[in-house]
Amino acid sequence: MKAWIALGSNMGNREENIARALKEMKKEGLKLLKISSLIETAPYGRTDQNSFINGVCIVETSCTPEELLECLLSIEKCLGRVRMEHWGPRSIDLDILFYEDNIIDEKNLTVPHPDLQNRRFVLEPLMEISSELMHPVFQKNIVELLQDLDYEEALNWIEQRARFGIKLGLKNIRTLLERLGNPEQRVPCFHIAGTNGKGSVSTYLSYILEEAGYKTGLFTSPFIESFRERFQINHQNISKAQLLKKIQHIKNIVQDMEKENMVPTHFEILTAICFDYFAEEKVDFAVMEVGLGGLYDSTNIIEKPVASLITTIDYDHTEYLGDTLPEIATQKAGIIKENCPVFLYPNPVEVMETIQNIAKEKNAPCFSYEKNKVQNISVSPKGTDFDFQNQRYFVPMSGEHQAYNASLAVLTVEELRKQKRIQFSNEELSKALSKAKLIARMELLQENPMLVLDGSHNMQGIHALKKNLSNYNYHHLILGIGILKDKKHMEMVQTIVPHANTVIVTEIPIERKLSAEDLAEEIRPLNDSVLIEKNIGNALALSISLAKADDLVLWCGSLYLMGEIRKNFFKVSK
Ligand code: ATP
Ligand code: CA
Ligand code: CA
Repeated sequence: MKAWIALGSNMGNREENIARALKEMKKEGLKLLKISSLIETAPYGRTDQNSFINGVCIVETSCTPEELLECLLSIEKCLGRVRMEHWGPRSIDLDILFYEDNIIDEKNLTVPHPDLQNRRFVLEPLMEISSELMHPVFQKNIVELLQDLDYEEALNWIEQRARFGIKLGLKNIRTLLERLGNPEQRVPCFHIAGTNGKGSVSTYLSYILEEAGYKTGLFTSPFIESFRERFQINHQNISKAQLLKKIQHIKNIVQDMEKENMVPTHFEILTAICFDYFAEEKVDFAVMEVGLGGLYDSTNIIEKPVASLITTIDYDHTEYLGDTLPEIATQKAGIIKENCPVFLYPNPVEVMETIQNIAKEKNAPCFSYEKNKVQNISVSPKGTDFDFQNQRYFVPMSGEHQAYNASLAVLTVEELRKQKRIQFSNEELSKALSKAKLIARMELLQENPMLVLDGSHNMQGIHALKKNLSNYNYHHLILGIGILKDKKHMEMVQTIVPHANTVIVTEIPIERKLSAEDLAEEIRPLNDSVLIEKNIGNALALSISLAKADDLVLWCGSLYLMGEIRKNFFKVSK
């Protein structure tokens, strides 16, 4: 039988310890088939100790896995005992990584070693001597495990950048893109700003462009289930391998910039990766959602958009954007560019005037429509039907506001078709809209009882949700909720909680969570039927089990929670 054994030492003469262990192993009748190079590595887990020498060997043995473990532990002890007098106790560590393709899960022995996929100091030596070896649990070979680890580390690096917070302005993004060879100049963009509806409008637009045969990039935030959702081409997430390549490339650039005292933020890096990816893939069009505001958002590096779209304007991010609607509108209208057409959601008059004036100053033709031009709106849990410009459309996103969002997209593409900038048939347009769906936006996961997810995360969103509930026929409302520690979330909860018959409170396993108990405490004055279930999967199951066929189970709160609810739902329903 073949076994793969990890060798490690961080005390005394580390190479010699390993040599001695190998010698002992031979003495015990293990036949050494192969040994990797020994590498020096930083300590793992507990970092307050010496660096290690690590390697991996393959042995042929007639021992059972349990006997092999026994044998290795006794060698450790024997070497340790000798070392104890001179150097201390942990001079050698011998772990069984694999034993043939056995899967063992016993109290004293787990094979394959349960953490090997997270250990570069194990995977790299394995790569050298057994790159094709298949991990029997993950069904991935060493090459793939190492790629996964690279990917995880790259993602962590990006996520860490969120620590640097939000910094508005275009200096960093300009430098980043210059050093990437200005990919943004090769990407024709639709640029979208607004308080709510950016994601929906971007979705409608990108589906229409794709249906019309254009290779279409889509840059949106936030993501629900996978970080890779942020960068899509024809509604496929960027592959892990491509994202890894892009992150590794930009990481070098960022590190150079840091030496020059420029510190690109999380969102600046995302924006740069996006342009780099879309340019390399030669997309025909990209639909780019702004991160925050417009004028000083890093996506505003776009110089000549095919079109700028502005959706609803409401009070959001007032700490960055100003306290009045015209002030906020001015920030968002910062995406309007000289001579480039602007398409406007029908907002309140003061907002419209502000934006139209800015458009005029920039000679940007401005298009909008009146709300009463969108007619016969009919909302159901499955979606929204409406008439616009003599056509009836259906979109699979539920809510009156979706009729207006979709009309904005239709207005845009029809004008651009008139200008011969793009081509598509009316059939393609309706078909595209009927497919255009975003997850966790009034998303209907099942019927009888209805299970709906909504990740609205500001007041306008939660009011739309509340209003939308009047279009749903149900007996009891069972509300599931989990939120982060922040005041805005609490305000949202207060709006919706009084309408529920029962509230199930859960918590999100991240640092910024509001604990289930604390949240329940806040809710009780508003609703006396509150249940606590900390585990998200159990909370979902509980909510469904409490519902009769004609009830509505609605989960809302943080987007992270929506991702977890979806994962749990599809795990069970598969
Ligand atoms: P880690 O296993 O995370 O690398 P470690 O090697 O430092 O940690 P030890 O103190 O050396 O941990 O071992 C603790 C126990 O782990 C051993 O006594 C053994 O019973 C158990 N064990 C479980 N699976 C394995 C395995 N695949 N190889 C070696 N020991 C294992
Ligand atoms: Ca170990
Ligand atoms: Ca060990």
